[in-house]
Amino acid sequence: MIYLNGKFLPIEQAYVPVLDRGFIFGDGIYEVIPVYSRLPFRLDEHLTRLQHSLDGIRLTNPYTISHWRNLIESLIAQNEGEDQYLYLHITRGVAKRDHAFPAGVESTVFMMSTPLAIPSQELLTTGVAAITAQDNRWGRCDIKAISLLPNVLLRQLAVDARTMETILLRDGLLTEGAASNIFIVRNHILLAPPKDHRMLPGITYDLVLEMAAANAIDHEVRDITEHELRTAQEIMLTSSTKEILPIVQLDGQPIGNALPGEIFRKLNGLYQNYKATIMRGKQASS
Ligand code: PMP
Repeated sequence: MIYLNGKFLPIEQAYVPVLDRGFIFGDGIYEVIPVYSRLPFRLDEHLTRLQHSLDGIRLTNPYTISHWRNLIESLIAQNEGEDQYLYLHITRGVAKRDHAFPAGVESTVFMMSTPLAIPSQELLTTGVAAITAQDNRWGRCDIKAISLLPNVLLRQLAVDARTMETILLRDGLLTEGAASNIFIVRNHILLAPPKDHRMLPGITYDLVLEMAAANAIDHEVRDITEHELRTAQEIMLTSSTKEILPIVQLDGQPIGNALPGEIFRKLNGLYQNYKATIMRGKQASS
């Protein structure tokens, strides 16, 4: 079951008019929220980022926070699977084709749930490979925009090279992955690029930095050069659906000793504990 403009219905029965500005211009934003044991993970943070994306494209939030919460709860209840991920998508609605904003048009709101398959134990113990590419996206990568053509092309480069992700470089600096945030470790210090217009402010990125701060893992948020990336002791990617994954090979070259590193193992352990604690706490209080 999916949600479209006020109704829950089977996905086969869900249609959007061809003049939807999402279809015509990619004029919309989206959000992805993981659900563990039927409970949405870091929902407040995801709804705050949704608002940031809406503000970024000057689109009014069609619903209140409590309405979003109710809809999300219903969507989870109407879909199978303890672990799911929710996709929320809002466009500037249906209007005669004209670049300028249409007046008096309601936005299109779509939500769906997909079973969530977190990375296998094997991937966590062997690590994954990645390639690099020049970041040729636009100047507002902090907006979770549905117009993802550059990300699609960049991510396909990773698939073509039989690797997991494309790590992006802009003006000689690390920005993020085509669909993830990237951390590195140098001199036993966890390094993260700063949150600005060059990258999506990842919910998992924030959680990793929070866990580092709370557990005395040395960390710094600062620009990371291409040289620092290529000669890192560890590289890892984070995202809501992939959690934290160790990258052990970059452009065919080994990273560190080509095995998941110490800091990755620590962070992944903390992440799994955090998830388990939150879920237990929520279940006890609900
Ligand atoms: N950057 C990009 C470009 C992404 O598409 C994503 C999400 N897939 C992320 C970062 C990670 O964000 P989050 O941790 O909120 O999933």
